[in-house]
Amino acid sequence: MGSRKTATKYLSREEGCQPADPFRVYGLLELALARFFPPRCLFCLGPGQAPDLDLCAGCEADLLPNIPACTVCAQPLPTAGSFLCPRCAARPRAFDAAFAGCRYAWPLDWAVQRAKYSGDIAAAAVLGRLLARRLPALQAAHVDALLPVPLHRAREARRGYNQAHEIARQVGRRVGLPVVSGPFERIRATPAQAGLEAAARRRNLKGAFARRGPWPYRRVAIIDDVMTTGTTVEALAELLREAGSEWIEVWVLARA
Ligand SMILES: [Zn+2]
Ligand SMILES: [Zn+2]
Repeated sequence: MGSRKTATKYLSREEGCQPADPFRVYGLLELALARFFPPRCLFCLGPGQAPDLDLCAGCEADLLPNIPACTVCAQPLPTAGSFLCPRCAARPRAFDAAFAGCRYAWPLDWAVQRAKYSGDIAAAAVLGRLLARRLPALQAAHVDALLPVPLHRAREARRGYNQAHEIARQVGRRVGLPVVSGPFERIRATPAQAGLEAAARRRNLKGAFARRGPWPYRRVAIIDDVMTTGTTVEALAELLREAGSEWIEVWVLARA
């Protein structure tokens, strides 16, 4: 009875600004399924971690933490002792701080590709739980809401879900923060960012997002799977700033 009550509490905190969320039902389903199907590691297919994490302790320990890293944009730094990367030292970012749970390397890149391009929503859930487990205990105290980077509607329809939303949902449940994406939309299906130079990425993302309604949150964390140059989250952060957010963090599973 206790666990059911807890689940209801978490689920009712999700999606403050959005209408019906099909994932509310999915959350209860997850709890039920964990009782009958023991967790299995996404990477080595060995036993996962009780009660319901599809990742074994050994594979989890093998995923490189993103240390040392720039305190503003989480770019990996070659040595400890410096706090800012050259880019952040030269000019300010549109967001205030960033946290990445891991370095973007094998075998995490494989899992991210599965979540993004193979329709593997279970992989996306593991990635979300991994980010939640690596998030420092006090990080959640800085923000009021989680905003997953929106996917273009056509792309989300093809994929069946937005992997950033799935990651945010897992993180929100763990730290007790609402996941809100309602007023923001990706209005242009931008070509893939991979392989583009920084300037080309900025051009690619110009006008990619739009806000369709009020945004009441002053302190927010943007959630995504991987951060490469940061231009995607900066485009969204600029809109958040216009909408009145004063403190903007970026939490990603992995930093390239
Ligand atoms: Zn494993
Ligand atoms: Zn930086």
